[in-house]
Amino acid sequence: MAQLDGLPPLRDVIQRHGLDARKALGQNFLLDLNLTQKIARSAGPLTDATVIEVGPGPGGLTRAILSLGAKKVIAIERDSRCLPALAEISAHYPGRLTVIEGDALKVDFAALAPEGPVKIIANLPYNVGTQLLVNWLLPASWPPFWASLTLMFQKEVAQRIVAAQNDDHYGRLGVLAGWRTDAHMVFDVPPQAFTPPPKVTSTVVHLLPRQTPLACDMSKLERVTQAAFGQRRKMLRQSLKPLGGEALLNKAGIDPVRRAETLSVEEFANLANSI
Ligand code: SAM
Repeated sequence: MAQLDGLPPLRDVIQRHGLDARKALGQNFLLDLNLTQKIARSAGPLTDATVIEVGPGPGGLTRAILSLGAKKVIAIERDSRCLPALAEISAHYPGRLTVIEGDALKVDFAALAPEGPVKIIANLPYNVGTQLLVNWLLPASWPPFWASLTLMFQKEVAQRIVAAQNDDHYGRLGVLAGWRTDAHMVFDVPPQAFTPPPKVTSTVVHLLPRQTPLACDMSKLERVTQAAFGQRRKMLRQSLKPLGGEALLNKAGIDPVRRAETLSVEEFANLANSI
């Protein structure tokens, strides 16, 4: 029986194309189109949007994005076994889906979006998700080539992305995301929603670029957060010793007996600017 979008159920697609999930590729598929549409809707209106999707797999989220009206979807998939299933979706939505076979970590995403900001939507492979996010947060020119990121992570990673000061999950990722974006968790997805189910709960995170993040040299910001959170239980005068210790903290107007997790993103930017 065809689904709401006129294509066959994903379970049939997976069976017909022999897409047994491979752990090494972080494959946990979403088969419920209502759920994939809910994820795609978290990205805001998609009509006329260009979307980049990482890891379409058999295409559950891809189908949702297309059925919600995206003008164009560029999907990057490493597993060549998925390409015939994705070709069927392409044929169903002529001219709207382009599939690139390859490793997303090696793709120049900005070059895929010459016509202006794109929305990135992905149920990310767990083994590469954090690295991809960091890459998208680091471009030298800002605002970036993307208009929004709507991404599924393991809940624990999602908590680290949205964490602010005085939160146990606050660390390097939270400072980086908080510096350049407004990030929030949208909803949790339980393990049983996936085939096969992962061990942990997942969470959809939505990030919008700040138009004017605090000016700061990102390599210095990374050095400061690395040193501060590398010894997060220690006072900053101790953990930041290699970068100037008390003198640096005094210059930035920060009490040297504070600990890393009590500093706001702005204070970390001040520290970076004081190096
Ligand atoms: N989007 C599908 C869904 O929601 O059902 C599949 C999500 S599954 C968690 C992750 C997908 O990313 C898999 O299809 C996997 O083959 C693909 N993948 C893994 N590593 C990748 C990489 N480095 N570059 C591109 N795709 C990758």
